[in-house]
Amino acid sequence: MTAKFTPLQGGCLCGDVRFQIKAPPIQSGYCHCRMCQRNSGAPAVASFSVLVHDFAYVAGRPAAFRSSAHGQREFCPRCGSYLVFRDDTPEIGVNTASLDDPGAVPPTFHIYWESHIDWFDTADTLPRYEKGLP
Ligand SMILES: [Zn+2]
Ligand SMILES: [Zn+2]
Repeated sequence: MTAKFTPLQGGCLCGDVRFQIKAPPIQSGYCHCRMCQRNSGAPAVASFSVLVHDFAYVAGRPAAFRSSAHGQREFCPRCGSYLVFRDDTPEIGVNTASLDDPGAVPPTFHIYWESHIDWFDTADTLPRYEKGLP
């Protein structure tokens, strides 16, 4: 345990839904899958994972959309900001740019590179995996 970890704070665009994370991220990367692209309207989504029990909503209540048999996407019902991906594993995915300080959690890989958009790339040498993490 890192006793000095400062909890991460974040939330949606309108401010109704706020969350807090009390332990350091487990992994952090970009996802270029079509579901993330369509859901966010962005060419890729940067997100990081934390244990479910280290994440809590502290204001507002999100709405949820079941995007596949094993996962749902949670968003602010007022402003629509996409915040969290949750499935039946012990971890959830939190959108990095939803943090108050997104610079605190840099991505370290790209996944679903197979569906990345041709005109979009980032200036880094991080590993690019065709599908999920190996
Ligand atoms: Zn909102
Ligand atoms: Zn994705």
